[in-house]
Amino acid sequence: MAEMVKEFEIRKDVIETAKKGIDFELYKKLLFEYGKRGEKAFIYLKEDRVKKYRDFFIVVGENEYIVEENFCTCEDFQINLKGKKPCSHIIAMLIARKIGHYRKFDKYYTDYLEKR
Ligand SMILES: [Zn+2]
Repeated sequence: MAEMVKEFEIRKDVIETAKKGIDFELYKKLLFEYGKRGEKAFIYLKEDRVKKYRDFFIVVGENEYIVEENFCTCEDFQINLKGKKPCSHIIAMLIARKIGHYRKFDKYYTDYLEKR
């Protein structure tokens, strides 16, 4: 039987804190829970770097990354974490999606990729 791909989840109390605002309380929780990656995720949220297209969520870090519940196109996720733990982009996207804190684009990201 094929191994199930695990979906990453953000702890409830982190989500509850995020609902109250992208502020120092959230920063502390993310830092405690995820270290440097949590710190980065906080910056992505704070600077509105999570974007929702019709087909994908994109998080703008050093590049633009396609992010899903259990997947990210960044090197940190693929190489360092080997897909076993969430990278900063996945953390940011999961929180952003839960609290509706993202910029919405009424187009397909894949269309944009084809034009590059
Ligand atoms: Zn990533």
